[in-house]
Amino acid sequence: MNKKPKIYIIGAGPGSGGLISVRALQILQRADCVLYDRLIGPELLNLVPKTAELLYVGKEHTARPPKQKDINRLIIKKSRIHKTIVRLKGGDAMIFGRATEELKCLISNNIDFEIIPGITAASAAAACAGLVLTDRNTASAVTFITGHTADGKEVDIDFKSLAKLNGTIVFYMAVGNMKHICHRLVKSDLSAHCKATVVANASLANQKIVKGTVANIAEKCEKNNITPPAVMIIGKNCFSRLQHRPLFGKKVLMTRDSVGNAAFACKLAARGACAVSCPTFEIHDLTGKKEVKQIIPKIKNFDWVFFTSPTGVKLFFAATKRLNKDSRFFASAKIACIGAETATALEDFNINADFVPKIFTSDKLAKGFIKKYKPAGKKILLLRSALADSVLTAKLKSAKAKVKTVSIYTAEKLSQNCHPERSEGSIDENIDWLTFASSFAVKCFFEDIAPETVRQIKIASIGPTVTETLKKIGVKPTVQAKEHTIDGLIEAMEKIRLTPTPVVGV
Ligand code: SAH
Repeated sequence: MNKKPKIYIIGAGPGSGGLISVRALQILQRADCVLYDRLIGPELLNLVPKTAELLYVGKEHTARPPKQKDINRLIIKKSRIHKTIVRLKGGDAMIFGRATEELKCLISNNIDFEIIPGITAASAAAACAGLVLTDRNTASAVTFITGHTADGKEVDIDFKSLAKLNGTIVFYMAVGNMKHICHRLVKSDLSAHCKATVVANASLANQKIVKGTVANIAEKCEKNNITPPAVMIIGKNCFSRLQHRPLFGKKVLMTRDSVGNAAFACKLAARGACAVSCPTFEIHDLTGKKEVKQIIPKIKNFDWVFFTSPTGVKLFFAATKRLNKDSRFFASAKIACIGAETATALEDFNINADFVPKIFTSDKLAKGFIKKYKPAGKKILLLRSALADSVLTAKLKSAKAKVKTVSIYTAEKLSQNCHPERSEGSIDENIDWLTFASSFAVKCFFEDIAPETVRQIKIASIGPTVTETLKKIGVKPTVQAKEHTIDGLIEAMEKIRLTPTPVVGV
């Protein structure tokens, strides 16, 4: 089918990857070409297929910023080459997003388009500062205003009418003109005591909130070096209550493989933390090897099959799919697994594990299993990493089980951890947490980095085995997860009080 090209005008939200709509995400993941603006973070751009053409068309950070007509021309040009073209704009594309010019161009060139709404900065900032924008008793209107005109002139607003509205006023692009705007509002009979809140970089790790009144907010922002992007929210009766989000704004360094880091990053972003990916190793799939291919048809002969990680589950089921097997090849074999995450990965393939120990270590799995099932003479197949320790095998064998171990993947250290070109961040004083989800990650990480370098950073360990490995190299973790999963690791960090995210003048 000769598909017609389509332009998707997408509002990406205020910057945090989690604050984009599902529809927008689906389109981004199959885009052929993305033309994006300044306030679009790497989190979102990483979701675009590697093969897609990414074009920065923002006005900042370029020697010769593109004019609107250049952007229009580029969109038309790309629609002749690609089918799914995304025009990605910050917030909502229809609010202070120069959408009129681009829409007119698409219409006059007869190009198909779809508009996907986004969370505008006013909504995001209000949520981040715990501010209510309307209230049925005290604020029946909310007005969005630009503090900056296209030609850089003073804003031409009827300040008197605005003050009379008795609602909430949100100024976009107001940092440079804040003093002037506040002065004009007070001169137009808005009470100088009216509450004013400025939120810069709403939803992002470098978010800053400054609270004051119309009379003093500009000065407070100057003192606190508030720079764009920021919005100023003004309202006499604005109800405000800051949310308790312990990881908000904290920089968390992740040391799993890149796929593991990506899943971890999503969970951190949902808590407002800034996830920094520093992959220390990569996974190599061994399911193409003869030994794995040979064992799959024989699985029904085993009494028990053990999975020890979600990675193992995913790779194993991908291999069975390649061999055209459906889940019935397990026949009556029962399934055991280490950890809730492995169990969840199995559920994705419609399999409920028969045995999942509460404490997720090889030792506890073996002890609990032996006590409950007395496996003497039973045939057990362990599908695991080539690097796994021998504890589980040894314990099962000592209980007289017939154990067969098959490696379905292995891991290899990546050279030069935390190298600025290879990872998103290097170890510096801005990192709040350093996290370890496996002993292998600890070993890989500290092969390149001296333990002394991380003395000032809080360290989170996923469980006792990782803690032991850390201690052996002279690093004492600040916290150890109660439940040995990524969720448990996050929960452990959340329980520690660090300095709160900056809020000035509360
Ligand atoms: N279409 C966008 C607005 C673009 S104009 C939207 O709907 O949000 C750019 C202005 O938006 C910035 O100068 C700032 O005032 C505001 N803005 C965008 N992202 C922001 C953020 N994360 N935090 C605070 N203000 C933001």
